[in-house]
This record gives sequence, C-alpha cells and structure tokens, in this order.
Amino acid sequence: MKKLTRDSGIEDIGNIHWGTHIGQMYCSKDDFFNVAAPYIKSGLLNNEMCLWIYAQNTDEEEIACYLGKHMQGVDRYIKRGQLKLVSYNEWYLEGDSFNEVRTCEKWINYINKSKEQGYDGLRATADTAWLEKSYFRSFEQYESKINKLIPELPFIVLCLYDENKADKLQFAEIINNHSYIIINNEGKQETIKNVELSIKDKQLNEAIEYSNIKTEFFTNISHELRTPLNVILGSLQMMKINNPERNEKDEKYLNIIKQNCYRLVRMIGNLIDLTKIDADYYNIKKENLEIVHLVEEITRSVEEYALSKNINVLFSTEVDERVIACDPDQVERIILNLLSNAIKFSGDKGEILVHMREDEEKIIISVKDDGIGIPYDKQSVIFERFSQVDKSFTRKHEGSGIGLSLAKALVEKHEGKIHFKSEPNKGSEFIVELPCVIADGEPSSNIFKNTKELELVERAQIEFSDIYS
Ligand code: ADP
Repeated sequence: MKKLTRDSGIEDIGNIHWGTHIGQMYCSKDDFFNVAAPYIKSGLLNNEMCLWIYAQNTDEEEIACYLGKHMQGVDRYIKRGQLKLVSYNEWYLEGDSFNEVRTCEKWINYINKSKEQGYDGLRATADTAWLEKSYFRSFEQYESKINKLIPELPFIVLCLYDENKADKLQFAEIINNHSYIIINNEGKQETIKNVELSIKDKQLNEAIEYSNIKTEFFTNISHELRTPLNVILGSLQMMKINNPERNEKDEKYLNIIKQNCYRLVRMIGNLIDLTKIDADYYNIKKENLEIVHLVEEITRSVEEYALSKNINVLFSTEVDERVIACDPDQVERIILNLLSNAIKFSGDKGEILVHMREDEEKIIISVKDDGIGIPYDKQSVIFERFSQVDKSFTRKHEGSGIGLSLAKALVEKHEGKIHFKSEPNKGSEFIVELPCVIADGEPSSNIFKNTKELELVERAQIEFSDIYS
C-alpha cells in the first residue's frame, strides 16, 4: 500500500503528505539550519531524493557540515546522488534573469528523475535570500504556479525567506502560498498553520484514504469473483469429459458458457492488475530472455484462431536473436492484447503483420493491421482507461476499454514506450519499444513461466474472449 504521509522531520509539524509547501522566515543562519537539516535528514532516511538550493549566505561545505551534526554518511548520500546541493544561480538564474517557466520545468524533471531512480519522490529546500526586488513579481507568479502544481506530485518543499529582506506585502504573500509558516518569535521558533490550505490538505488526505479503501475493497471482491468462476470452468471441463458425444446444440451452449467465463476471467484479471498498478503495488519480474523467439511464439499461438476468422497473421523480423531483461508473462499480455485488437478491428481477409527490428538501445515490435483504423478525433484518448471509440449498444465489438491502458502501464513498467499510427479505413500500427537492457544473472531458457498453469493457446483464448465466435 502507498505510504500516505511523510515524516517532515520538523517537530511542530510532524507528518505531512506529498504536495506540502512549507515556508520559513529566518533571522539567522542557525535558524534555517536548525529546521532544514532535520527536515532533509528525514527525507534521506525515508527513501526520498533531496535537493538543497542554497543562496549566497552559505556554501556546500557548510551545509554538509551542519547536516553532519544531525546524521552520519552525508558524503555517501551526495556521492550516490540521493542528496544534491545546488547554488541558487545554477537553479533559478540563466545569465542574470529569473525564468519561472524554466524553473518549473526543472522541478518536474527532478521529480521524474527521483521516481525513475527508485525514490518515493522529491524533498527540497530552497533559500530565496538571493531574490532582488526586481524579481519579486515574477517570483510571486512562480510561487502560485508551483502551488497549483505540487498537490498532484510526490514533492515536498521548504522555502526559506530572509526576514530582514521581506516587506509586509511579501510577508502576506508568503503566508498565502504555504501550508505552514515557521517564524522566529523573540528567539522562539513558532509554526503558523494556513487554515485554508490546511483544510484543502485535509480534504485531499481524506480523498486519498477513501481511494485506498476503495482499492482494497475492489481487489478483495475481484479475488472473490475469481473463485466461483474457476468452479464454473472446472465443472464445464468435467461435463465435456463425462459427455464426449454431446449433440451440436449442447456443444454450442457449452462453448458460450466457456467463452463468457473467459471474458470474466480476463476482465477480473485486468481490473486486479490495474488496481495494483494504481496503488503502486505491481511488480514485474524481469529476467534475461531471447525476445525474438518469445514474440514469435506468441504470434504463432494465435495464427490458427485468426485463420478461422479468415484473417492472416504474419511474423517477420530483422533481428535473429536479442536477449533483454523483460517479464515474459507481461510481454505476452501486451502482444496478445495488441493482436486481439488487431483481429477484433480487422475485416474479412484482413492481414496482420508482427514485425521486429532493433536499434542500438531498443527492440521495436510493431503490430500492424489493415482494419477499420481509429478516427482522428478519438486517437488522443485510446490509451485512457475505459476508452472505446464506439460506445453504442449496437457496436460490433465487445470490450471494456481496459486493454490498451493496461498494455501501456506494463510497457512503462519495462521502461519502454508504446505509440501508434492509424488511418481510418486503412488500418492501425501499434509500436512497442523495449529498452535493450540486461538484468543481473544468466539468460533464462524458460520463456513462458506460467505454461504449467495454462497452455499459451488457452491464455490467448482468454485474451481473445471479447471476439464473438
Ligand atoms: P477494448 O477492450 O475495448 O478493446 P482497448 O483498451 O484494448 O479496449 O482499446 C480501446 C479502443 O481503442 C477500442 O475499443 C477501439 O475502439 C480502439 N482500438 C484499439 N486497437 C485498435 C485497432 N487495432 N484498430 C482499431 N481500433 C482500435
């Protein structure tokens, strides 16, 4: 389950959640070091990437020294890139000017980088003592922009303001823009809570909690649904075994039951996986595998089925062999999903081509069909969950609109990309790019891990269960 709150490391404030913007008005260096050092320490100990943007009143050596009074191994954190000390002119200024758009982009890049490198998010402190009067206006605009941005992101920031430099107007502005303000009141540190922002914080927190309860309930109920479904499928199999000479009508009904069971199995499986991905609880198991053979086998497994619909599936490759780190079960789901869509949206005598090529860093798998294509005005939404081009009750094709969003999430779990080109009435091409990286350990010869549970052809049938026979 996602961690709901983060330890701020600031005694008066306690636990906070992502998106909290704290301000501190300081009179002396000791003032801000006493707050910022334990605040950063808490981030480092809790798997956050930490960024300290300092002004002209201090330097990297002094920061490392103050931090060292609170924790051990500061140099190690710097060396492995979890803690970065950056000067204000490097961060905010280009030449002599402050550019709010560029600075916002830098924050976003750093937040993304922190996630990519396996941290939970980004914790920053930034001193504004460099701020000249001439920058005030654009800085104000920048602060409110940041405020709109951060509630959505795994980001916490502590802004430091030199009390001697701020006038009353600026002080009011600061109170407005931060959830908490730390001030020095006659030598004593005090914290003011911004009531309006705190209420918003509370509502956000409650919404996250509610969403987590929903996720848990959803996962539980989905598992509960699987059990009776497996019983139905098992009984069906027994009926087929016990009664091999059934008449045509019975055969037809048994197949309808089976196909619809498969549809439910697929839908429940997809829902469970998407819920897990949303809750950051989904792990793929990468191993070193020969991907060309894997994709070829998956394609071959659907050839016969496609032929029964008068659709030709061809496989071609420019690469003979390529071992990459991937999860074969997930690659199978991605490719089967693209193939099932290609078949679903192809007409009689349709042709589907699965083609593989590579460049230096990635392996590129394309699934191309000459089917109905995707209308231009729908192309921007098809990776969104529950998106279907044709939502009418009379639509020809069944589906829940989950497949592509799940395929995209699984490709991204491999640090890959998925995109497509499509022309209405001409066809579509979905392109998956997987990075050519190798995991620790020997290449594995077992390309399908779950073969024991179900045959590949049967798994394909489940993936294809939306296509009426
Ligand atoms: P579904 O389960 O409804 O197929 P997907 O997420 O797999 O959901 O696909 C979403 C929508 O994208 C489909 O309903 C369809 O309208 C469109 N689509 C996906 N692949 C193709 C394709 N190869 N050709 C035409 N339309 C497609």
